[in-house]
Amino acid sequence: MSDNGPTPVVIVHGGVSAPASHQDGCEEAAAAGLAVLAGGGAAIDAVVEATRHLEDDDRFNAGHGSRLRLDGSTIQMDAAVMDSDGGFGAVAAVSDVPNPIIVARRLVDAPPMILAGEGASRFAARHGLTGDVRVTDAARSKFRHMAALASRGKLGREYSAWRRFDLAANWNYETPFPDFAAVAREEDPNPDDCDTVGAVALDARGGFAASSSTGGTALMLLGRVGDSPLPGCGLYAGPAGAVTATGEGEEIISRLLSKWVYDRMASGITAQAACDDAITLFPADIVIGVLGVTRTGHGCAANRAMPWAMAGARPA
Ligand code: ASP
Repeated sequence: MSDNGPTPVVIVHGGVSAPASHQDGCEEAAAAGLAVLAGGGAAIDAVVEATRHLEDDDRFNAGHGSRLRLDGSTIQMDAAVMDSDGGFGAVAAVSDVPNPIIVARRLVDAPPMILAGEGASRFAARHGLTGDVRVTDAARSKFRHMAALASRGKLGREYSAWRRFDLAANWNYETPFPDFAAVAREEDPNPDDCDTVGAVALDARGGFAASSSTGGTALMLLGRVGDSPLPGCGLYAGPAGAVTATGEGEEIISRLLSKWVYDRMASGITAQAACDDAITLFPADIVIGVLGVTRTGHGCAANRAMPWAMAGARPA
């Protein structure tokens, strides 16, 4: 930290188990966030800009590039932003919004903190923020691969809850329960990757912010909301720092993971040690990644590969 205050920094991740080839997208997003801080902007607007960048890069599972849900055609996204002044905004299960993080940012200045589904879409429309969300070949390929695993009884151990679950009896999509075997194709080399995106930032005034945006996980009923839009779960920011998480949302929610990491950082444990400790809370077959920043350093840990990038000087 200089005499004039902290040196601004933005750190982003591109999702746990996302391929290393996505690294350049993270670097560009971090640089875009840092440009906001360099222009005197606040941490909250820096993480929003970095996240918007990743939502527009359709290699990531957020905005354009979001996963398809189990009917093979629906997209539902979650996104949130939080800052150390107590600002919070989130959208959940929105479909026709290319940049959910921008809608979440609008909600920071509105009385409701979280809007879901149709209400979120109508709010977005009032702000001119609705539009088509691209369905990528990668999203179709991941869906066909998941259909293959599901129809052949080959879901991995990380899906143990789903293996015990009667999906047909609980099917809540408009279309009838699909014949997964008919669309199945084991063509995706990395079907389990999460690829949710997130960012944390520290601005020149000492303010922190965290963000998160996702198309969700591989197996989801209609209307499923993950950790990403929930404060303390997928993200958290306070006077001691900011945290964002990626991985199996239900596992993250049940541990209030981002608040857990934040509390450790606030108690004086380094950001890196707090992130490392967080990973040990999960069995090895649950994919998890976490990113944190404090005034004195940053931390990044994951139990699979996770592209991430930092722009700005490392907090001293
Ligand atoms: N946490 C996200 C979710 O469960 C998925 C991810 O991190 O990729 O929706």
